[in-house]
Amino acid sequence: MHDEPAHCSRCDAVCCRLTVLVMPEDRVPGHLLEHRDGLTMMARDEEGWCVALDSSRMCCGIYESRPDVCRRFEMNGPYCRSVREEYSSHRAIGIALVEY
Ligand code: SF4
Ligand code: SF4
Repeated sequence: MHDEPAHCSRCDAVCCRLTVLVMPEDRVPGHLLEHRDGLTMMARDEEGWCVALDSSRMCCGIYESRPDVCRRFEMNGPYCRSVREEYSSHRAIGIALVEY
């Protein structure tokens, strides 16, 4: 999978498993947030995905008010390709997915 160009339409929204820090200037509804070690971040479900993910379509459910860090995440950029490769390799050998 990682040899193909990454595209969100063919991806399990792997970047939405990353720790997403939320800044004061972001406009994310409070019930989607968690606070840990003095930081504010997107809460995640029991399987590790951001709680704002629309799991029926595997896309952002708060697209218009998603955090700035999500807006800047580059499709097919090095970080995108890296997390997709790691996700793919974990799935391929059937071990538990890690949270980042
Ligand atoms: S930015 Fe990359 S990791 Fe995120 S959904 Fe798109 S292809 Fe997948
Ligand atoms: S806010 Fe949206 S784009 Fe950002 S991690 Fe959550 S579901 Fe993904």
